[in-house]
Order: sequence, then structure tokens, then C-alpha cells
Amino acid sequence: MATGIKPNMAYLEGQVSGPDKGVEHDRGILVSDTMQTSVANVWAAGDCAQAKGFFTEARVINSILPDATEQGRIAGMAMAGDPGLKKYPGGMSLNTYHFFGRHAISVGSSAVPEGAEVVTRFDEASGRYLKAIFLGGRLLGIYGVNEFFDAGVMCQLILRRVDLSAVRERFLANPMAVGRELMSKLWR
Ligand SMILES: Cc1cc2nc3c(=O)[nH]c(=O)nc-3n(C[C@H](O)[C@H](O)[C@H](O)COP(=O)(O)OP(=O)(O)OC[C@H]3O[C@@H](n4cnc5c(N)ncnc54)[C@H](O)[C@@H]3O)c2cc1C
Repeated sequence: MATGIKPNMAYLEGQVSGPDKGVEHDRGILVSDTMQTSVANVWAAGDCAQAKGFFTEARVINSILPDATEQGRIAGMAMAGDPGLKKYPGGMSLNTYHFFGRHAISVGSSAVPEGAEVVTRFDEASGRYLKAIFLGGRLLGIYGVNEFFDAGVMCQLILRRVDLSAVRERFLANPMAVGRELMSKLWR
């Protein structure tokens, strides 16, 4: 098992400072919420970019494919001066994995901020486990082992800060069906 990535920043070391200052970087290339680097007309996206997180203003490397795609799309629109450009909402964790004959899925934050509520359910017979973290009516993170739900749908419920208060119990009983139902009304 392994986690995280370390972009190669060696080629950016030893850049000159002053007006010709090079591309600002930390663990990755530091970018704005339109993927702009510290140098005009230079953008970065994907695994090499260190951009704001969804749950934190701190800039993080979120090395997953959906984020690379979204950041690349934003960088491309910014380069082209597209008037439809929307700022990057921030990256969040999203993973699926298989081990020991089980599948697991995790979306969003595992942190439990003050006032948040953690709900878990476990069915020993089927080995199904679900954990969800809510703040107010909003979903912050959802985790499942041998559970079935769409990572993309959950991601959108989190990103759009959808209030799940009215459907919370139904959602916990069947996150896939209720998540799809909500997104079929909200998606555009
Ligand atoms: C083993 C593994 C499993 C993964 N599993 C998942 C997963 O299940 N889900 C998920 O969301 N993400 C997964 N990822 C992460 C995902 O692959 C990356 O986040 C994504 O590919 C990043 O896209 P990118 O375009 O930023 O970089 P890359 O896909 O790495 O593309 C960079 C490209 O630039 C090229 N390049 C490098 N240097 C130069 C140069 N000097 N000149 C020209 N070209 C150059 C490289 O050859 C490469 O083609 C996994 C990664 C690995 C390694």
C-alpha cells in the first residue's frame, strides 16, 4: 500500500529572484484558484500543482485523476480567456480500493470539526459498513466497506453543500438511490 505523491521540483530549484523570479513552489507548483502560477502566462494543473483544498484554504497536492482533469479544464479555460471560467472549488479526497475480498470507498473529509456528527452503521452478516460525517445538514465525508454508492454523486453533494436534513435517514439507509435522486434534480 502507498499513499500520496511527490512531484519532482528539482528543475525549479535555483531560479533567480527579483523581477524575473521563477515559478513559486513548495511541495508542488503553487497555483491560484484559476491554476495560474506566480509567473504570468504560466499555469499548472494535476499532480504537479499545489492548489487550495475544498476544506481548507491551505494549498495541497491532491493527486487524483478527477482533480487533474478539473484543474486542467480550468487552466485551459483561463489560458483561452473563456468568460465561462469558474474558480476551482478546491480538491477533496476520493478513493476506491479492493482488498481482502472487500471493496471500500471514501469521499470527502475524515476530519470531524466542532459541531459535526459522525454516523456509523455496521451489518455483521454482510460485512457492510457505512460512516458519514455531517455538519448541520451538510455532508462532509462518506465512507463505506462493501457499500454501493457513486463517488461522483457524493462528491457533488459535498461540493455543492447540499442540505440533506430533510432526507437524512433515507440517505443513510440508501446513499446511492437518494444521492442519485437529489443530483437528478440539482445537476446542471
Ligand atoms: C499506480 C497508480 C494508481 C493510481 N490510481 C488512481 C485511481 O485509482 N484514481 C485516481 O483518481 N487516481 C489514481 N492515480 C493518480 C492519477 O493517475 C494521477 O493523479 C493523474 O494521472 C495525474 O494526471 P497528470 O496529468 O497531472 O499527470 P500524469 O498523468 O503523470 O501526466 C504527466 C505527463 O507528462 C509527461 N511528462 C513528464 N515530464 C515531461 C517533460 N519534461 N516533457 C514532456 N512530457 C513530460 C509524462 O510522461 C506524463 O505523460 C494513480 C496513480 C498511480 C501512479
